Amino acid sequence: MLFSFVFKKNKNKSTTHSLHWNDLDILVVRKSHYRNFKIKVNESMQIKVFCSIGISEQDIFLQLEQHKEWLYKAILKIQTHNNLKPKWNFQTGDCVYFLGHAVRLKVQHIAASQQKVEMIKNVSGEYELHVFSSDLKSKTIQKLLQKYYLSQAKLMLPIMVNRIANKHGFKINSLKLKLTKSRWGSCSVDASICLNWALLVFSEHIIEYVIIHELCHLKHMNHSAQFWNLVEEYLPDFKMRKNVLRKDAHKANFLYAIK
Ligand SMILES: [Zn+2]
Repeated sequence: MLFSFVFKKNKNKSTTHSLHWNDLDILVVRKSHYRNFKIKVNESMQIKVFCSIGISEQDIFLQLEQHKEWLYKAILKIQTHNNLKPKWNFQTGDCVYFLGHAVRLKVQHIAASQQKVEMIKNVSGEYELHVFSSDLKSKTIQKLLQKYYLSQAKLMLPIMVNRIANKHGFKINSLKLKLTKSRWGSCSVDASICLNWALLVFSEHIIEYVIIHELCHLKHMNHSAQFWNLVEEYLPDFKMRKNVLRKDAHKANFLYAIK
């Protein structure tokens, strides 16, 4: 056996320190191999400057001054983006999703005995989800919404599964509905299918893909080429539906527990 020891010179010497400039805290990362001067702003609004070891503090200020306009624009862009992130306050005007539609919430106070959730189509043809609750706390409204989605899922998903299974000649033993953040559906060897009831945020078109996906697992308990060929046989445009499912997964976030 051959042993070799390689002694590497620490070429990538680096130092980090912070600076204060124009009311902003800036983290300066100096590395000996850096040639350029780079400014970065991350999602949590931390500003980092990357430069070579030799550059003076005065030069850093000069560079910041020169890139001032760009830097303020970048900060504003991140601030706007952070403000647009849904916070799920569960108040009137908040947007949730149901069967592929964006739905506005209308939260109203009512006696405990009369609590309910109703889907209403307003005069302009838009859907509104009216939540009547005795308590206007976010957690309570979310619980009422969860109850509503589960009740709707219990009405709709078994009918859809039976229709699709019959159409393609599949036989299943049982259907379970669960709320899980990790998966949209699963299929076990005893031919029982489990669907995530948060699927109700998607259109029937997308839900159909998840059902067909799970039914195809009755024939192939894996994600082999044969499995995907079978899915494609039933749904030639399955890739498009699968992409929507991945891209729009965040639309179900309001149904999961408030952190
Ligand atoms: Zn699968």
